[in-house]
Order: sequence, then C-alpha cells, then structure tokens
Amino acid sequence: MSRDIPQDPPAPAEPLDWSDAPSRDAIQLIAEGVTQLAGFGVAAISAVRDDGKLEVMAVAGSDAAREQLHGVRTPVDRLSRELEKADDWGLLRFVPHERLDHGAGDDWGWVPDIEPIDAEDAWHPLDLLVAPLYDDEGDLRGSLAIDLPHNGRRPGGAQRAVLNQYAEQARRAVLVALERERLAERVRMADAARRIVRTATAQLSLDRIVADSREALVEGFRAAGMWLQTFDREDHGGARGEIYSSDGSHIRLTPELVAIAEAAARRAWEQQQAAVVAPYREFGPSITPEQGELVLAFLAEIGVESLLFTPLGAGPECLGNLVLTRVAGAPEWTEAEAATALDIGHDLGRAILNARIFEREHELVEELQELDSYKGRLIATVAHELKNPLTSIMGHLEMLESSPDLTGTTRTSLNAMDRGAQRMVRVIEDLLLLSKVGDPDDPVIAAPVDLARIVDDVVDLTMVAAGQKQLEVTVELPAEPVFALGDHDELDRVAANLVSNAVKYTHPEGSVRIRLDRAGNDVVLTVADQGIGIGEEDLLRLGTEFFRSSNPEAVAQPGTGLGLAIVRRIVDRHGGRLEIESELGRGSTFQVWLPAADPAG
Ligand code: ADP
Repeated sequence: MSRDIPQDPPAPAEPLDWSDAPSRDAIQLIAEGVTQLAGFGVAAISAVRDDGKLEVMAVAGSDAAREQLHGVRTPVDRLSRELEKADDWGLLRFVPHERLDHGAGDDWGWVPDIEPIDAEDAWHPLDLLVAPLYDDEGDLRGSLAIDLPHNGRRPGGAQRAVLNQYAEQARRAVLVALERERLAERVRMADAARRIVRTATAQLSLDRIVADSREALVEGFRAAGMWLQTFDREDHGGARGEIYSSDGSHIRLTPELVAIAEAAARRAWEQQQAAVVAPYREFGPSITPEQGELVLAFLAEIGVESLLFTPLGAGPECLGNLVLTRVAGAPEWTEAEAATALDIGHDLGRAILNARIFEREHELVEELQELDSYKGRLIATVAHELKNPLTSIMGHLEMLESSPDLTGTTRTSLNAMDRGAQRMVRVIEDLLLLSKVGDPDDPVIAAPVDLARIVDDVVDLTMVAAGQKQLEVTVELPAEPVFALGDHDELDRVAANLVSNAVKYTHPEGSVRIRLDRAGNDVVLTVADQGIGIGEEDLLRLGTEFFRSSNPEAVAQPGTGLGLAIVRRIVDRHGGRLEIESELGRGSTFQVWLPAADPAG
C-alpha cells in the first residue's frame, strides 16, 4: 500500500541551503542570462534531490515568478511523462499546451497570466519548454525551464540555438553544484562519524555515551534533536528502553510507539538500513504505512517534521535505536546521511555493548565485594563465638591437670586435649587478626617502628626451631635502627611469619638469610631460603586465606594457610608491598617493602 504524496508547498523565497554559494551564484547567473539575453521572461533551474524530486534552485524573471517558483518540488516522473510527448529541439524539449497532460496533477509551478497573441506560432501560457539535464551516465540530474518569450512567439531556430547553449551551461553548472554538494556532505558526515567514534567508544556508561555524542550528532546531522533508546538486557527483563532527548529531558512515548520503534529497529538492523519518516516520503520497509502515520501524528504533536531512524547494534544483535529529528523548513534527509547514520549505529552499538559488559563486570565486582565482606563478618563472628567456650575449656583442663590423683592415661589424654585446644586458640587468634587487618574501618595507627629490633627478636624466638633442623641462619642488619612507619605488633607479625615459614619449609641443614635495608623512602625486609620452593601456579594464589601449596612436602608441615594472608593484608594496609620469588625445589625469597618513618628526602 502506498500513500498519496502531496506536492510540497514552495519554500519561502530565501536562498535555498544547497551546495555552496559559488555554485548557487553560477546557476543563478545562467538563469538570468536566459531572461536578459535570450529574450524570455522567466527561467528556472532545478536539480534532482535524493527523494527523486526536482526542486527549483534558481529563478530569474519577475518578482511574482520568483516568489512562486522558488523551491517548488515536482516528482521526476511527472516531467518524464511529459517529455515522452515533446518535440526534440536539441537539448531542449517542447510540449505544446494541447499535448500537456492536464489530468496529471497540478500545472507546472507557474502559469503566466498572458493572453496568446493572434499568430500561428503564438506562445500559449501552458506551453512547456524545458531542457532536461542529464549526467554522463544518462541519469536525469536537473532541468532548465523557460517561459514567457518577450515577443510572444514560440522560439525560432536562432533563439533555440542560443537556448541550447544556455542549457549546456546549466547542465554543467548543476552537475558541478551537485558534485560539490555531495563532497561537502561526505566531509561533514565523515567528520560527524569520526567525532562519534572518538567520544562514544571512550565511554563506559550509557549516559556518558549519550551525553558525549549528542552534540556531535546534532551538529553533524544538522538535526533539531536526538533520541536514543536502548533495549533492556535480556537478563533484566521488565521495563522497556529509555529515550534520551537532546536537551537531556526524557521523552515519554506511548507503549505503542515504543513497541513500533523496537520492532522497526530490529527489522532495520536485519536489513542494515536507516529509515526516514517524513510527510514527504514513502515509509521504508521497516515501518508499515499505518505505523508511519501514527509516528507522524506524534511528531506533529511535538513540533517535529521528520526523523531519521537508525538501528543500533553489534554483530547480529540489535541493541536500540537512534532517532535524529528535524523541524519544518530544515533540509530533507539525504542518502549520505542515512548511510552515515547506519555506520554510526554500528559504532554506538559497539560502545553500548562495551558499556553493558563494563556494567556487568561492575555488578559482579560489587557482588564479589559483598560476598567478601560477608565472609569477613562470618569469620569474625565464628571466631568470637568459639573463643569464649574455648577459654572455658582450657580453664577447666588446667584445673583437671593440676589434680594430684590422676592416672597416667588420664594425664596423657588431658595433655592431648590441651595441645588440641592450644592449636585451636592459635587458629582462632589468626582468624580474628585476619579479620581485623582486613577491616577498612579499623585502620593502622602508624608510628615509627624499629624493624631492626623486631627482626632481632623474631630471630631469637625462631633460633630453637632452626637449631633443631641445623639450619644456617644469616642475619644482616644495619648497625643503626631502621624505622618503618606502622603498627609495632602487626609488623612484628609480618617478620615472625616470614621467618618461621622460611625455617619451616627448608630442609634440615639448609640455609636461611634475613636482611634489612634502606632503599630510598622505603625499608626492605628480605627473608630468603633454599627450601622446598613454591610452584608457579601456587605462587599466583599465595596469600589468599587458607591457601596452602599443593606440594606434598609443604602439606606435610603443620599449618593453616592463614599466615601469608595476614602478612599480605598487613603490608597492604601499611601502604607497602610484598614481593615473592620462588622456584620449586630451589627456595624462595620474600621481600616486604614498607614506607620508612624518616623519608630520605
Ligand atoms: P601455613 O604455613 O600455615 O600453611 P602460610 O599462609 O604461612 O600458611 O603459607 C601458605 C603456604 O605457602 C604454605 O602452606 C606453604 O605451602 C607456602 N609457603 C609459605 N612460605 C614458604 C616458604 N618459605 N617456602 C615454601 N613454601 C612456602
């Protein structure tokens, strides 16, 4: 089904905004040449526009003629039908009024108010003299229409020759003007597209994409406004996409219009086509005539004349649509604009997809953070709840152990229970510490701490265990104090953990080296061993709670996998860093970098 296309009313008699000023001037001059030098009262030069209509671009002659003809648009077919009946006068075609198809619609733009003179070759007001202007491929690109001979007669041989020369000039001028217009438009479109790609693809939120590309789109397309609608992610269901308008306000559409837009966008994406909805055009294949009329009625309500409708998508998925609007009097949408809009639909589609992926990641991170904080709270609560009954158990054990009349087996059992309870106390204390040092609401109260003293003390405490394994322990400490900025007990815990691990995970008679250095504004504690080492994969997970290496030699040692997690959190909250180098079977080096309490500079 197709609609009637009304003949458009002429635009107001102001310069039409087409091609560039020099081209327009050249065409105007040719029209004036016809009126001033070839003996005619009116000359009008038209060009074929994207929608297949001839539009009058330049008129020379009386004010009345200029006013009436300027901007008049006629379907090309109408001219072609008349030309079939025309006499061939070189480039010119003449259709005497008796042959004109009066039933075809309105008369040609303007009918001069004259009485034909009394002669055989008298000019009749309805006579049609026109030169169709073809390009080198034989396509019709414009026309030169001439009317109102000064002498009141149909032109003779000499006059026709002059007119043919003007027709050739008009042909060249129209072709140049159209070509220049096409080039200028291509540049403008390429520029708009480049700006969109640059701004939109750098953004990771839909709101920013819309905000940042709005200006480039509205300017580049000379649009009055823009709306962008995205379809909801499948997993979100429910509500439909939102429409962002160019002034930042949200346009409310009826559910019916939203549904039309969504269905049309999906069809348009499948067909890879942008569509124009305008009173002067047939609707494209993505919109039915009924839907088109509904949209037009809505546009009229909000003062918009036409829109360029572009699907947005990535790969096979249609993600939304972009609507650019124009008000009455603005130029019509061109093919180049529609093609560029589709390109932009691809770029924006990708940007929307990226924004969605980013949004999903963001949500996932938030969920994980929530889970992590829940885990922290759970650990802290459980550890607290276990601590009190355990203290009571240990108190009773102590009482029982001090009883004088215990049998040997009872005493052995009590000792075993006591050892087990001690171990539980250590695990619970580690859990409580882990939760404390991971709590952002409980920050470090930092003060200068002499790490050299701490290392000294820690080494003293581990000497017994190291001696039992006959390890060679080397300690290299500067003679003077080495102050780090932090919490004494936490830093003591860091050193103790690293040194006791080195001793624990080194074979008997192996060696352990402990060093403390100043390095610029940092202090560096190095604990290196030639022990069992850590495999590459295990290294990646080292320092996560309860993680122990998969190496059977490591598993054979008692441990919980909490020590390094505590170390890492303490170092982190001190603004330091933990570096680990290790090779399975060869040994490991742990380095802790902490801010010095007295920066070098
Ligand atoms: P634990 O020693 O209680 O298991 P840690 O958190 O201190 O827990 O260490 C985690 C794991 O890292 C250990 O189980 C061990 O496999 C490995 N590891 C730590 N320090 C060393 C080291 N110096 N040499 C080899 N492996 C180590």
